[in-house]
Amino acid sequence: MTKLQTSLYDLKFDELQSALRGWGEAAFRAKQIWEWLYVRLADSYEAMTSLPKPLRDRLAVEYPLGRLTPKVDWLSSDGWTRKILFTLPDQAQIETVLMEYDTRNTVCVSAQAGCAMGCTFCATGQGGFQRNLSAGEIVEQVLFFERELRRADGGNERQGDRGKNQQSAINYHQSVMGHRVTNIVLMGMGEPFANYHQLIDTLHRLSDPIGYHFGARRITVSTVGLVPMIERFTQEHLQVNLAVSLHAATNDLRASMLPINKRYPLEILIPACRAYASATHRRLSFEWALIDNVNDTPEQARALANLAQGLLCHVNLIPLNPTYGYAGAASSRERIAAFRTILDDQHIPNSLRVRRGIDIHAGCGQLKQALNAAA
Ligand code: SAH
Ligand code: SF4
Repeated sequence: MTKLQTSLYDLKFDELQSALRGWGEAAFRAKQIWEWLYVRLADSYEAMTSLPKPLRDRLAVEYPLGRLTPKVDWLSSDGWTRKILFTLPDQAQIETVLMEYDTRNTVCVSAQAGCAMGCTFCATGQGGFQRNLSAGEIVEQVLFFERELRRADGGNERQGDRGKNQQSAINYHQSVMGHRVTNIVLMGMGEPFANYHQLIDTLHRLSDPIGYHFGARRITVSTVGLVPMIERFTQEHLQVNLAVSLHAATNDLRASMLPINKRYPLEILIPACRAYASATHRRLSFEWALIDNVNDTPEQARALANLAQGLLCHVNLIPLNPTYGYAGAASSRERIAAFRTILDDQHIPNSLRVRRGIDIHAGCGQLKQALNAAA
């Protein structure tokens, strides 16, 4: 395996400070570089004009600025979802998605190249595991789109037909709101809790007050349900949101969809979720991809309502997105409505997520799909 050189984004602030101290640089340089990276979002050493040339040259040799190279750029036909395929120096590949809404710009980032969890209905799982990403590689994905948004000018640079939303999209892009990342979700490729240390480092890096200073409450981490890590995360006392991919409310069904359920079945997963909610007073989300005649039955809805009873939570329903390796179909509108009625009757808060970017395989669980298809 290629040994990767540490990139500048991989350094914590104190690591940068000590590297610079070791080179005999003045103490203020670390802060200056940090600002170039995370406040001014420089994308090259040349852009860091307040640094002396010899220092820039030395940095470039010792710490490459970043590792991500955008290779393919897809825009959905409605113009609201964009996906980038990045390659990394060891030929690993990841995908990152930007979803624009009327009042939000959400970046969906990958925590791993591939995924080892093997969920049957997920393209990433179907493709297997390549490697963990470093914190720098995760943060870089966010900064890429932050730069893109800040660069976009009144929507004029945008390609793609936004259909009937065209006018509102233009108005929106003329407002300042449109030019910032407003939400970050760790729901791209991979299982964030299987890359725990880098994840925590990422979360600190993103919300660092002298750096990117992104509000923790606008970050969401999604896990397949690695119970020891949920317990550990509970102790971190972060303001970050937690989403748990539930998808089934009985062990047999859940294990057939999510192999991890054999290791951490519902009787230990749900108490860990309850402990999280009561210790943090934060509302947790349950993700549920609705699959026709698999997990959209009245029995599953009732079992879900039972599990969720008295738990500070919200159920995010999403019609299954198609993947090549899984034959199931999305639930019909009628079945979704019936499922929701049962949850509503039991006072379980729930919402139906609108599918996004399906035409460019940018929907939940579809990342890496285009490559698999091409292979
Ligand atoms: N590994 C993490 C986060 C990435 S997946 C996790 O599993 O939670 C992001 C979400 O998409 C998860 O809730 C996952 O279960 C869901 N998902 C996977 N495949 C899907 C598909 N084909 N259709 C809809 N959602 C899917
Ligand atoms: Fe991995 Fe999440 Fe896909 Fe499961 S759903 S295979 S945990 S990325």
